[in-house]
Amino acid sequence: MSDSSLVDPFGRRITYLRLSVTDRCDFRCTYCMSEDMVFAPRAQILTLEELYAVADAFIGLGVRRIRVTGGEPLVRKGVLGLLARLGARPELEDLAITTNGSQLPTMAGDLRQAGVKRLNVSLDSLRRERFAELTRRDRLDQVLDGIEAARRAGFKGIKLNSVVQKGRNDDEVLDLVEFAVDKGLDISFIEEMPLGSVSSHQREVTFCSSEEVRQRIEQRHELVRSNHVTGGPSRYWQVAGTDTRIGFISPHSNNFCGSCNRVRVTAEGKLVLCLGHEGALDLKSLMRRYPGDTERLRQALVDALQLKPERHHFRTDEQVQVVRFMSMTGG
Ligand code: SAM
Ligand code: SF4
Repeated sequence: MSDSSLVDPFGRRITYLRLSVTDRCDFRCTYCMSEDMVFAPRAQILTLEELYAVADAFIGLGVRRIRVTGGEPLVRKGVLGLLARLGARPELEDLAITTNGSQLPTMAGDLRQAGVKRLNVSLDSLRRERFAELTRRDRLDQVLDGIEAARRAGFKGIKLNSVVQKGRNDDEVLDLVEFAVDKGLDISFIEEMPLGSVSSHQREVTFCSSEEVRQRIEQRHELVRSNHVTGGPSRYWQVAGTDTRIGFISPHSNNFCGSCNRVRVTAEGKLVLCLGHEGALDLKSLMRRYPGDTERLRQALVDALQLKPERHHFRTDEQVQVVRFMSMTGG
């Protein structure tokens, strides 16, 4: 465990940063974005240099794991250079990315070379038409090719992320598990979070709890509680007799707030202390007012941590509680 100087008033040590490098994406997943998203003007997005400066300040304060996300991080121009700079930092125990997989066919090898250690690839359906409906893009084959490319490039820690929605893809849970077992991948099932207003479905109708997903899997597989920890909020089970671990991310139960070790920085440079709260500190303004002032940036982070909320309170019976979309914050 690192010796982080970032400690919040509840004694939680921050060692994990999720850094969003863009709010843009080549997909339009229905639970994440609206069809006609308005993206931030480019000038409002942190430059690669600013993104590195933020990461550097966090590393200086004891952060040891960084996950680069978005939007779709791999559509950000120059992201490989940023990853290579982060990958070269000896302090980092883990450098991971969360991706929709669409760019992996061409980028997997370069990502590995850049020092990325782990990949999370989002995959909610193995059926072409349904995939196209959920993501609003007909790119299932490209994503499956991307997963193969990542395996060929030698990535070991590949994990699938599947958001499960009742009546939309919950009947594919077992198929997704089969796919993961077959390819030797891990998989996490995620409860949908009420982030941003969506028009394609009613969240209180499609909500599917992790408990239901687990029961469904246990009809076919024996699940053994695993003590595997990744620094993230998943709780893991091993599929007996296989290499596959299954994680469940259940933001609706406050179960992981007590051990929360993370903060997020959006592509626009907002420090988000808790996914379930609106409050955010504008790091971009600070960095642009005092360019190169690392000390000031670090102090602002230390001070901001004093405001980290104790827990979030997502509920399923309300459409929107936090106006930000997940693509702005980074998943
Ligand atoms: N574009 C990349 C991807 O899709 O993996 C990275 C960003 S995406 C916002 C990160 C993760 O957040 C994805 O696994 C996605 O399924 C998940 N996500 C997006 N909106 C969500 C929501 N409202 N509730 C739960 N998970 C969500
Ligand atoms: Fe894009 Fe990822 Fe959001 Fe889907 S979940 S729209 S791939 S950012």
